[in-house]
Amino acid sequence: MTEPLPADLDEAVARLAETEHLLVALDFDGTLAPFVDNPDDSRAIPAASDAVSRLLEVSHTTVAYVSGRAVDSLQRASMAPDGVLLVGSHGGEYRFDGVDTHPPLSDEDRDRVAALSAVLAPVSSAHSGTWVEAKPAGFALHTRGLGDAAEQDANEHARRAVHEAGLPVKVRNGKDVLEFSILSVTKGDGIRHLRDYTGATAVLYAGDDVTDEDGFAALSDGDLALKCGDGETRAAYRVGSPEEVASVLAKLAEARAATGR
Ligand SMILES: [Mg+2]
Repeated sequence: MTEPLPADLDEAVARLAETEHLLVALDFDGTLAPFVDNPDDSRAIPAASDAVSRLLEVSHTTVAYVSGRAVDSLQRASMAPDGVLLVGSHGGEYRFDGVDTHPPLSDEDRDRVAALSAVLAPVSSAHSGTWVEAKPAGFALHTRGLGDAAEQDANEHARRAVHEAGLPVKVRNGKDVLEFSILSVTKGDGIRHLRDYTGATAVLYAGDDVTDEDGFAALSDGDLALKCGDGETRAAYRVGSPEEVASVLAKLAEARAATGR
């Protein structure tokens, strides 16, 4: 049995369950998982995981997680079951059916990639043994084979040069590599891509944070926007906690299964 929902939300969920192909897109931290001190320890509450599993069993129903986390981190923390589509880095990375892709770059992104290239090339030249690899949305500075001190020198130089150039890039530290990527996409772009990819006829999006507003803005008539927690929102519906998000998902799974799918 699931907790009763407020009448208007209950009706909206029942209406949504009738759609032909349903996309259930969910933020992770603060929406399915309560906040914890160490992000690596973040886990979905059991009721949310159960509801997601039940949704995955219903045909013509897709579940996606849409997070600011990098897609690897999202996969690790969410322990997403097979079949869940992942959108990471606020719409900057996709992992759909085991295949990693990313959105096409805008003209503005291309300009930034060019500017980033101009900043990193001299850094690499100044540190022998390093090399720059072009990535679809940025560059990786490779330092394999360098000693720790030389690696640290090169990385610090690169970070400083990018910072001084004022480029809005995301920096990620890997093993013997420092990655710089251009990201002007939002969770809204992620939702639009998911809608196209799945052919969804209606979408539920649930999120708790300011960046989720971009996701809500990508919804339209017939979709359901669910804000979790306090704060201004454009979402039509609001619940107070991940537990209540889980109740909505459980109700949706129940109603969806009852349509005979
Ligand atoms: Mg969140």
